Amino acid sequence: MFAERLDRARVAMTQQGVDTLLLSVGADLPYFCGYEAMPLERLTLLVVPREGDAHLIVPFLEAPRVVERPGVFDLVPWRDGEDPIVLAVDLIGAAGTAAVGDQTWAGFLVDLVAALPGTRFVRASEVTAPIRSVKDAAEVEVLRAAGAAVDRIAADLQAGAIPLVGRTEADVAAQLGRRILDEGHHRVNFTIVASGPNAASPHHEAGDRVIRAGEGVLFDFGGTMVGPDGVGYCSDITRCVHTGEPAPGFAALYEVLVGSHAAGLAAATVGTPCEDVDAAARTVIDDAGYGEFFIHRTGHGIGVEAHEHPNIVVGNKLPLVPGHAFSIEPGIYVPDRWGARLEDIVVATADGPDSMNRADHRLAVVDG
Ligand code: ZN
Ligand code: ZN
Ligand code: ZN
Repeated sequence: MFAERLDRARVAMTQQGVDTLLLSVGADLPYFCGYEAMPLERLTLLVVPREGDAHLIVPFLEAPRVVERPGVFDLVPWRDGEDPIVLAVDLIGAAGTAAVGDQTWAGFLVDLVAALPGTRFVRASEVTAPIRSVKDAAEVEVLRAAGAAVDRIAADLQAGAIPLVGRTEADVAAQLGRRILDEGHHRVNFTIVASGPNAASPHHEAGDRVIRAGEGVLFDFGGTMVGPDGVGYCSDITRCVHTGEPAPGFAALYEVLVGSHAAGLAAATVGTPCEDVDAAARTVIDDAGYGEFFIHRTGHGIGVEAHEHPNIVVGNKLPLVPGHAFSIEPGIYVPDRWGARLEDIVVATADGPDSMNRADHRLAVVDG
């Protein structure tokens, strides 16, 4: 699998005139070689020339964690006291253009730029994002399993099986985190719990506010589930519940959101430009008069990373192809008052959009 992925990277490198691909911290590295670098100050770097063998430079003390993959890369461990940039420069040689991982520490890039004055550096995502964004059947099955796992948690929230009123957001968020692991993820990525007016902040950090009766609570949570060959794929879902009957204004707002989500989903067909999916969801909210309160793009790609390509956003004219996996997550946020968002992960297929999340879209009313 990894050898095949690297072959695809080399084809893209050839098309784009990239001589060497340099991957460090970030999701490209596990995707292409099965190894995830710790975000350390010591350099880990996969050096992939357009032709010839790839080499993985790793700190000597990290080498025991590396699953060796003959035919994919050769291991180059370095010891404390050695200069790993010298090792890297040796392997990179006289590359005219190097594509460096977008999340590589700036410090290492500064050193590489200084050591390779004849090399032009570009973002590795130009090579890697188009490859990673199109999921194969095995990847989609992991996304589906991760989606089903968070659906079970969402269903419990909607059924009132997870108590809310009288608890702090942070307490509920901690419980969601434990559930994400219990349901089969190996890592928790985020647990947003935003109650009452806090839901007007899309990425509100769960805090010590106590959830009350008679208000909306927004939950947006996800984790990473291990798939083929140990590479992890992400879940990401948003649902809202209301503690007791909602005010008419909130219920009306939420109905607009359901319509917006449905319009976005219906538009997410193969061949449709990403920005048209955004427009389909946005038009429903605009037409209902809430346009100024929908303050972000309709969605983002998802896979090894919770946010990757393609973005469902104005200006992205990329047409959807089978295997594109992304969120559809319109939101309406009225400052100091309330907010709501509805999010599913969707995969584009020749037979139409395939939702990884099946939890009920309606506003769940739980005991106040
Ligand atoms: Zn978000
Ligand atoms: Zn999302
Ligand atoms: Zn989300």
